[in-house]
Amino acid sequence: MSDSIFAEGFRTDPYWWDAVPRDAGAGLPAEALPERADVVVVGSGYAGLHAAITLSRAGSEVVVLEAGPLGLGASTRNGGMVSGGVNVGKHASLDPATADEMLAEAAESYGWFEGFIRDEKIDAMYQRCGRFVGAHTRAAWQKQAEEVARLNDIADSGASMVPADRTHDHLASDFYHGGMLLDRSGAVHPAKLHHGVLSVAEAAGVSLFGGIRAGAITRSGTGLEVETSEHAIRAGAVIIATNGYSGDLSPWHQRRVVPVPSYQIATEELGAERVTELFPTHRMIADTKRLLYYFRPSPDRKRGLFGGRDASRRVPRAWLPWKRRGDDELAWPPRRSDGGRQPEPAKRLFRPQAGCVPGFSQDAVVPADGGQILRFPRLAGASSGRVAGARGRPRFRLT
Ligand SMILES: Cc1cc2nc3c(=O)[nH]c(=O)nc-3n(C[C@H](O)[C@H](O)[C@H](O)COP(=O)(O)OP(=O)(O)OC[C@H]3O[C@@H](n4cnc5c(N)ncnc54)[C@H](O)[C@@H]3O)c2cc1C
Repeated sequence: MSDSIFAEGFRTDPYWWDAVPRDAGAGLPAEALPERADVVVVGSGYAGLHAAITLSRAGSEVVVLEAGPLGLGASTRNGGMVSGGVNVGKHASLDPATADEMLAEAAESYGWFEGFIRDEKIDAMYQRCGRFVGAHTRAAWQKQAEEVARLNDIADSGASMVPADRTHDHLASDFYHGGMLLDRSGAVHPAKLHHGVLSVAEAAGVSLFGGIRAGAITRSGTGLEVETSEHAIRAGAVIIATNGYSGDLSPWHQRRVVPVPSYQIATEELGAERVTELFPTHRMIADTKRLLYYFRPSPDRKRGLFGGRDASRRVPRAWLPWKRRGDDELAWPPRRSDGGRQPEPAKRLFRPQAGCVPGFSQDAVVPADGGQILRFPRLAGASSGRVAGARGRPRFRLT
């Protein structure tokens, strides 16, 4: 074993960007920024782009502003795991009717997602590979088992339980006490997905601007005015789709969408055989912990990718929560003290970026993004996107 967990050529930029580099020059030149638009969308992730596509197709003139290169945020850095509501209410007590309603909507959004990439011919390396959700305690397994019937009834999840002694059928680790299988879930290459959505937005006539930060949003006559790092834009409406990166752009969001440090690692190439040993069914792997671990084979099945959330809000000095266990023992797949088969240590690490983040809604009912890719579930609309100037509870649903 090498004395370093870092592979030769170790890099800190996201693995996904190898396939789709962030192009600082993509989008329209700053000089083309108009003085006015029907709608200004702030943020060029899945949420902002899909809002823009929907509005543009409905006849609005839409400008998307992105502070960095287009797609700088979570949409090109995530784990690429897609599902239909398995996390709804995971760590929160919801009244049963609300929980069921949310689950049904999340389940519907998964079907919508599959239809969208099919109809728009987006090559996101999508695989409906299913998911294994490891139970980190016996009690967690029991709680999962009690959910199976409901998930199957309401979300058609194809859920079933795996006893502890069959965990190895799905993951080369003894960490979990069995878990739940979900057939109705899959995987994408997130940056390719984003690239595809960006192309759809361009084709729909959306004006896309990278490298232009939105500033103060104020009322101006019957509309709004958005300050930008170029010049102000007048707009009939503004959609804020800035996830956990909002900063002080909107105090409303800042109070509700909490940044949570989150990290991922890509191993060096392990080879398809080794990857299949580690992930025998090639499913996505998540778990029941509040600060969960998640694992997956890379879409080409040559590497292992794994991620986790840091319990603290600071960026760990040594890159990763796992690394605290010692430089030469990277706990992946996680294992209990009695060990378990271990892969070669990870050799290449990437992270979303310092201090960065999927946004979580403050009550942790559901990630601000709803745990869903592309479509605003209703709760997500309330927490991660908002039409500035709208009256009442911000709520929009774009289909
Ligand atoms: C490490 C990680 C793993 C994840 N894994 C999964 C997963 O497996 N499955 C899943 O469903 N979800 C996952 N997520 C969540 C998923 O990535 C998000 O739900 C989704 O990408 C959110 O999209 P968005 O458009 O809301 O935000 P983002 O893609 O984050 O876009 C917000 C954009 O707003 C921009 N911005 C902010 N302020 C301004 C400003 N003032 N002016 C202009 N632009 C601005 C930012 O630069 C950013 O590009 C993960 C997230 C992370 C970080």
